[in-house]
Amino acid sequence: MKEFFEQYYPLIIVGAVLGVISVVFILCYAFIKNKKETMGFDRNIPDKEILRRLLAYAKPYWKSFVAVLLLMIFSISYDIVAPLLIGQIQGMIKGTFELSALFWMIALYAGILIITLVCSYVQAIILQKVGQKIVSNIRLDLFEHIEQLSHDQLNHIPVGKLVTRVTNDTNGVSMMFTNIIVNLVKNVFVVVGVLVAMLCLNYMLTLMVLCFVPFIVFFTMMFRKFSRRAYRRVKDDTTDINTFLSENLSGIKITQFFNREDKKLEEFSQKNNRLGKSKYQQIFVFGIFRPLVYMLYITSVLCLFFLGAKGALDGTEILGQVITSEIIVSFYMYISKFFNPIQSLAEQFNWLQSALASAEKIFTIMDMQPTVVDSEDAIELPSVEGKIEFKNVWFAYENEDWILKDVSFTVEPKQTVAFVGSTGSGKTTILSLICRNYDIQKGQILIDGIDIKKIKISSLRKHFGQMLQDVFLFSGTIRENILLREEGISDEEVWQACQYVNADHFISKLSEGLDYQILERGNNFSAGQRQLLSFARTIVHKPQVMILDEATANIDTETELLIQNSLEKMMNIGTMLMVAHRLSTVQHADNIIVLSHGEIIEQGNHFDLLKKKGRYYNLYTLQHRKEELLKQGA
Ligand code: ATP
Ligand code: MG
Repeated sequence: MKEFFEQYYPLIIVGAVLGVISVVFILCYAFIKNKKETMGFDRNIPDKEILRRLLAYAKPYWKSFVAVLLLMIFSISYDIVAPLLIGQIQGMIKGTFELSALFWMIALYAGILIITLVCSYVQAIILQKVGQKIVSNIRLDLFEHIEQLSHDQLNHIPVGKLVTRVTNDTNGVSMMFTNIIVNLVKNVFVVVGVLVAMLCLNYMLTLMVLCFVPFIVFFTMMFRKFSRRAYRRVKDDTTDINTFLSENLSGIKITQFFNREDKKLEEFSQKNNRLGKSKYQQIFVFGIFRPLVYMLYITSVLCLFFLGAKGALDGTEILGQVITSEIIVSFYMYISKFFNPIQSLAEQFNWLQSALASAEKIFTIMDMQPTVVDSEDAIELPSVEGKIEFKNVWFAYENEDWILKDVSFTVEPKQTVAFVGSTGSGKTTILSLICRNYDIQKGQILIDGIDIKKIKISSLRKHFGQMLQDVFLFSGTIRENILLREEGISDEEVWQACQYVNADHFISKLSEGLDYQILERGNNFSAGQRQLLSFARTIVHKPQVMILDEATANIDTETELLIQNSLEKMMNIGTMLMVAHRLSTVQHADNIIVLSHGEIIEQGNHFDLLKKKGRYYNLYTLQHRKEELLKQGA
């Protein structure tokens, strides 16, 4: 017993130190786990399911993955054979050797090294290519899915969040295919191969190396737990900062109008610091893990030198195993080849966690089923006469917070119907229900006598031209904004549409004409011009029913006259439902529906309503008086 202690006391000391470190870690872990439990980091979609769905994307490229695996075998064989060769070369140099034999040995080593490098290069190229293809497919699917989401869902997801999903998160997932899966497999093979080689060389020294494995496993588990948490935080904070940026950059002018730059900067700085802190925590976790594994590595090398040198110098056997200097050199290399993949395995698991977290976020969006969808027996509408009926329609954006209450009206083909009423009375809401931007809860909406729920949404929207209160122009040319990538419409037709709605007046003054570049959101056009462009965009698609939510209540007189004139022309195209804030515009409507708090309180034509002396009469006289006063003032 005494002899045993004398021989192995360094090992015992090292074991004891590692034991103490492990206990400290277990205590820390218990403490953090306790805290973590309350923070809810569990996944909504199980890892298995996420992996299955990700692998489904990789399936079409399985041949490339097989090629990568075959190439990988070369690099693995280098890891296993190289230490043996180096050991042999060292043995040759130490003893008496033939120069030619040494030369061949070195040539063999160099040959294997070159083949391995070439294989690794080809492997990396294939993986990058395939990985990018897979991720680009995921991005496409995701964007396609987002396009299908219904308005109520889109209202609830900040744009910045969606941008993060399509960019950052898909990048996170790309790591899975370019790096993680292949390296996980490779590292497992290397660890097993190196272990087998070590066992064949000297099982006593291998057992000594294996003593360190439980510690590595323990550290790795700890690392995984901490890093997962750190990754989650980084992801959440990145989404947070992207959401803040996309919203506040869009509204930066408002910030400037109200001199709120400092406040916004403060808010951004807080989010920025939070992200910085999370990144720091992530780096900190790596910063602890790597030295710990390195410490284990150094300790095992020291043990190797101690045991090996003792055995080699004494010429004694340890448990029946002879140790030579060649074996020590080979083992020295094997130990590093054993620890490296273990450390990288842990990190790869960590990347895997991160990729899974990203994939989960992507799939969560993909799993959102649009709330407004085609019914199974939905029909195509080849053409529309233009009769629209609302029958006892009840609608709420949320729960039972009714915005429309028992609304009923009929619009005959080719008629123009105008909706008036105070702000928030439900005018925009009515218009958005006709094209099924939202689904109603009670009642029926009929187009040419067919319930709109029985008509394909795409077919419905094809016949309707929607001009929203909030005109949106994309960055691009005027032509692109009018066509919206619709093919088969000639420049002449575009120009005719512009002339029809009086947009030609300002377009013809632009040097590039239809090729004039519109800035993001149409910032280089006035509100009236934007409205006219939206009219042109609508009529060029030849809708049978037009829905107009007019926003430009206060624009210059010249543009107002142009809009007025183009509206009057558009009324002749087909059925028209409109919200107009200037009552002079609605006077020509066949029917005027007056809304209050989501209910119809009056309807009829301009003269009927004036005779009634009700709400419309009040609104009209108020507006009329205002206009008179303005004229007198002028
Ligand atoms: P305005 O003349 O100001 O355009 P409006 O008559 O068009 O007003 P709507 O936009 O139809 O009014 O809004 C009617 C009511 O519905 C308002 O009380 C508004 O707060 C609510 N509302 C509108 N859009 C939503 C939404 N996406 N989610 C929840 N509530 C909404
Ligand atoms: Mg409105």
